[in-house]
Amino acid sequence: MKKEVEIEMEEIDCPVCGGPEHLLLHREDSLQMVRCSSCRFIYLNPRPTSRSLLRFYQDYLPEDESSVEAWERMMESIFQKAANLIGRYKKRGRLLDVGAGFGFFLSEMRGRGWEVAGVEISQKAMDYTKDVLGLTLHLGPLEKVGFPESDFDVVSGFYVIEHLPDPMAFLKECYRILKPGGLLLLRYPHTTPIKNLLLFFGIENRLYDLPAHLSDFSPEMAESCLRGIGFERCGHMIGGYTLPPSPGKRVASSFFGNLSEALYFLSGGRILFPGVSKTVYAFKGE
Ligand SMILES: [Zn+2]
Repeated sequence: MKKEVEIEMEEIDCPVCGGPEHLLLHREDSLQMVRCSSCRFIYLNPRPTSRSLLRFYQDYLPEDESSVEAWERMMESIFQKAANLIGRYKKRGRLLDVGAGFGFFLSEMRGRGWEVAGVEISQKAMDYTKDVLGLTLHLGPLEKVGFPESDFDVVSGFYVIEHLPDPMAFLKECYRILKPGGLLLLRYPHTTPIKNLLLFFGIENRLYDLPAHLSDFSPEMAESCLRGIGFERCGHMIGGYTLPPSPGKRVASSFFGNLSEALYFLSGGRILFPGVSKTVYAFKGE
């Protein structure tokens, strides 16, 4: 059992554009997701203060060994697909994984000949990674580590961006530490379409995983944020496949992808909801 920690909340302006106006989108218990009236970003408001969040994450990752192994099994195919995607663009080099967790992706990439580094804020995960995989991670958050400019060929982050109070600052830092031509790859959940569907059918749920998740990026929003910072050639991969180009097929593929994953979740799956998730990638200009 996780112990309940007291969480202090605060009202905020839109973390992407700074706009103060928003509309209520969905409620889960006393928590609410709102949509920015200016840029349409979906975020938790009010949300836990930074101090509360840090305490919260000390207990966020699973404790016992069987949970860690279950997590590894669940993420394995996602990591494989991400590694293959990276391999399409970059053969070898320096890779940083932010929110490295128990280090399984780093271990995979090390096995493929990459020089790897990781950032993590959970001491428990850092200890595990050191003891079991022999990898020493940097204590996060990323912006505090202070990597040199143009240090990495690839920066990855699996299920990180939806946890960040300032996602734009994070993306800017990723841009700064990537080499020219470097690749950023982020995996994130996109839950709002399913929330809308379940609301339509009157099905109660807590799919947003609040207050752990502070935002819900749509693919359009993710790409627009990346382009706004200067990233180029943005694209999405879902379940290892690139989205079909025609809008009709795009909608159908993402609708059914999302639906199947909602059923997976409702049938008792836990921790992550892989199918409501998207992988976005983008490059720093040469
Ligand atoms: Zn906004």
